[in-house]
Amino acid sequence: MTEKLKKYNAKRNFAKTKEPMGKIEKSTKKLRFCVQHHLARKDHFDFRLEWNGTLKSWAVPKGPSYNSKDRRLAIMVEDHPLSYRTFEGTIPQGEYGGGTVMLWDEGTWEPLTKISKNFQTEAFKFVLKGKRLQGAWTLIHLEEDNWLLIKEKDNVSLFTDITKIKTSIKTGRTMEEIAKHQKTKSKTSKKNNIVENITITNPDKVIFARPKITKMDIVWYYHKIAKRMLPYVENRLISTIRCPDGMQGEKFFKKHLENKNAGIGQKLIKNETNEKEDYYYLINSEGLISEVQMNSFEFHTWGSKVDALEKPDVMVFDLDPDEKLALDKLREGVKDLKKILDKLNLKSYLKTSGGKGYHVVVPMKKQINWEDFREMAHNVALLMEAKWPEKYTSNIRKKARRGKIFIDWVRNTRSATSVAPYSIRLRSGCPVSMPIRWSELDKVKPNEITMAEAIKRLKRKDPWADFYK
Ligand code: ATP
Ligand code: MN
Repeated sequence: MTEKLKKYNAKRNFAKTKEPMGKIEKSTKKLRFCVQHHLARKDHFDFRLEWNGTLKSWAVPKGPSYNSKDRRLAIMVEDHPLSYRTFEGTIPQGEYGGGTVMLWDEGTWEPLTKISKNFQTEAFKFVLKGKRLQGAWTLIHLEEDNWLLIKEKDNVSLFTDITKIKTSIKTGRTMEEIAKHQKTKSKTSKKNNIVENITITNPDKVIFARPKITKMDIVWYYHKIAKRMLPYVENRLISTIRCPDGMQGEKFFKKHLENKNAGIGQKLIKNETNEKEDYYYLINSEGLISEVQMNSFEFHTWGSKVDALEKPDVMVFDLDPDEKLALDKLREGVKDLKKILDKLNLKSYLKTSGGKGYHVVVPMKKQINWEDFREMAHNVALLMEAKWPEKYTSNIRKKARRGKIFIDWVRNTRSATSVAPYSIRLRSGCPVSMPIRWSELDKVKPNEITMAEAIKRLKRKDPWADFYK
């Protein structure tokens, strides 16, 4: 480390501040200068002149003035590295100089008088060629670190009260905007650090424009929700919806694996026409996050687990209302269905679809095969229809649905899927398919729960806590 920047480096903890590390650099032909507005403990301007490979620096509490009658106190501080010349951002509170730094002016300068070795001089004149500061100036040494910065009478005056300019010469941002920007940036990198292993590519990619939701926000959501979500997703064959270019771009259904990552399993199974197809499944949260990294944001699962593929254990009834049907009618439908399931002694759980409806989910013992399972679900839908023919239909055709609710039992078929509990939906507002308590049915709309709300709800009692019990 060089003597000149020793003080600069000693004052700073580079693990905490984003300021550049002090290194001596070769000066360029033209000497450069910069002024930084620094909102630290005390509001001031840092005036820096390139000299012998570093930036000679003064803190000017009141900032420079074009009025040659003004004598602005300038306190010489430690030399700064040349790379500091373009620094703009925040220095963490508690660190040296903690606060916001805005690049306020930059340009080149030329000495007009001889400068003695390392500024051990009484006074010197110089010309500034910046965007805001121009013309001839003088720095007069008083005693110790105290100097005065004074404008020469050369008729160059660009502004009457130059310190009234409150924006960055580099980015046009105000102090407030710089601080805000830094906050969101460090939030992102904090998220990136916490989500183990996976370097997330394109973390700032905007997936939803309004409200703005980035890929990293979605990764973060799944990271937070993984423990709660996995029991319903792990070791079940899945299909996902990929959305690599955001909601404006194309979406892709994914049923087969392209890259096998840690935490993901693959299974070759026979489909209905006896052909072999390889499906995939998540084994743990690492697999979940790696799928999200591959831009699979919406997860749909089978009703059986890979260790007992032919013995389904999760039955799903999806209540799909006719478009014009009022929400209270839909809720009535959910209650009617629950009544029937209760009578059949089938314990059931409720979740929002994250779309237009609700899903009623019934955990089952791994005992019956797909054919019987499907027939059982069909019978429940037929019962609903028989009991209240004006309200419900078990017929998948859109026509049959007019003014009614379609009790979708068909997804209880081998190789059919339903959106997984806690999966986000690639629909307006990025809602979550959210498990809720039965008592919440009248309070929570099908597409109401956001990622933030879902995370908040983790603090509450798990509404599906006894699902597998
Ligand atoms: P809504 O409440 O809006 O009706 P939903 O989840 O009930 O939402 P859809 O999203 O329309 O219904 O899905 C209909 C069916 O298509 C579901 O069985 C679902 O699992 C299936 N599906 C959706 N996306 C995929 C996919 N990527 N791969 C396979 N099946 C999918
Ligand atoms: Mn539905």
